[in-house]
Amino acid sequence: MEASFTYDLQLKPKTYGSSRGRQFGGCFSSRTKRTLLPMKTEKQSKPATQAEHSQDGLGPQTKAIHGGEAERHGVNGPVVTEIIRTSTFTFSNTEQMKEWAEGKNKAYIYTRYGNPTLSVAEKKIAALEGAEAAVVAASGMAAISSSLLAVLKSGDELISTAQLYGGTYRLMRDVFPNWGITVHHVQPDLGGIEKLVNARTRALYVETPTNPTLRLVDIQKAAAFAKKHKLVSLIDNTFATPVLQNPIALGYDIVVHSATKALAGHSDILAGVSVGNTEWMGKVRQMIIHLGGSMDPGAAYLLIRGVKTLGVRVERQCENAMAVATFLEKHPKVERVHYPGLKSHPDHQLASKQMRGFGSMMAFDVKGGLPAARRFCDRVRLFLLAASLGGVESLVILPIYSSHYNMSDEELKRVGVSPGTVRVSMGLEDKEDLIDDLKQALE
Ligand code: PLP
Repeated sequence: MEASFTYDLQLKPKTYGSSRGRQFGGCFSSRTKRTLLPMKTEKQSKPATQAEHSQDGLGPQTKAIHGGEAERHGVNGPVVTEIIRTSTFTFSNTEQMKEWAEGKNKAYIYTRYGNPTLSVAEKKIAALEGAEAAVVAASGMAAISSSLLAVLKSGDELISTAQLYGGTYRLMRDVFPNWGITVHHVQPDLGGIEKLVNARTRALYVETPTNPTLRLVDIQKAAAFAKKHKLVSLIDNTFATPVLQNPIALGYDIVVHSATKALAGHSDILAGVSVGNTEWMGKVRQMIIHLGGSMDPGAAYLLIRGVKTLGVRVERQCENAMAVATFLEKHPKVERVHYPGLKSHPDHQLASKQMRGFGSMMAFDVKGGLPAARRFCDRVRLFLLAASLGGVESLVILPIYSSHYNMSDEELKRVGVSPGTVRVSMGLEDKEDLIDDLKQALE
């Protein structure tokens, strides 16, 4: 059973007793005050319903908190999104089911196809990315694989940056050739890309900043190239987050995230999301339905909760990262620091142009190679030795033993990862404590 429609919040309006008009206090700037929710008088107020607020003109943090949520005015209404913990949904009669099967109504039928809690997460993230629609998935890789498969078919060619999260790279290297999809890799500066395009080229996939060496792709240049050659453009925005860059506004077709990372933000769920126009998201949803990589409503609840604080977390992480990168750059045992906020970084200018902050991720090469890097990682106390990123705890990891395992020396060289490269994900601890920990671990 299949239907290609978008999923809207379809709960029946709820009444929570008599509602009261409400005004926002003095905590918003005059800009947001003007554009925020309409102020109601007692007379105008109506019962709380599942209708949604318009998101037009709101700032990013306001969208993160209010985007996609049901209208929350009225007596006894929950402030927090409900977890609709069900795998399946009822219909009143077979006529409604027939209409659903014919694509004539947008009812929820089964959580793999859509669920009201998932819809809130989707609308919230779409609002944050400035896109028409979004589709959540069970993991970042579910969102990435389903998005790429919504675009590509056997015989197609894909151009991608070589610098990628290792899982995405291995999907392209080990799986796509079996399905008749050819992948060509370019460096982040897109040098020589014109020569890689032919009649079979269907899409361009980039990651910026890249995992783990924090190189940047010029988003506008890549989007313009894709448009010129009629390629579908996809971008992994996990490292930057929608707080620091919004590729849709710069011409991208599809944005993907490992929402496991900063969007959810607390290292407690696996989650992914794909964002774009309604047409593309309809196709991505079909892939999620076919391949089964759908999100659990409980995970959607934690994702929604995490997104609400994304702005303040990213701001703090950027501040911590800048302090730590500056400290590491001056340390005698450190060979090189990869952080786009540093003037020494090859993409510093580009980062200043296309990002609203330099991000929470960095890497550095320890003098003495792998043994010295292992010694450092074995000695940290506050930093945790763990894969993943974007959470509240600061983490360190050796990419050759995690995201970049199972890669040849040549592959590692091409993406600038040396055995002594340590990747750092900045958390929210006090930066002075983090720096003290780095000092003792490097001693
Ligand atoms: N994209 C990037 C940049 C990542 O760092 C990761 C995971 O580390 C992924 C995608 C894959 O996401 P997930 O682990 O949620 O499947």
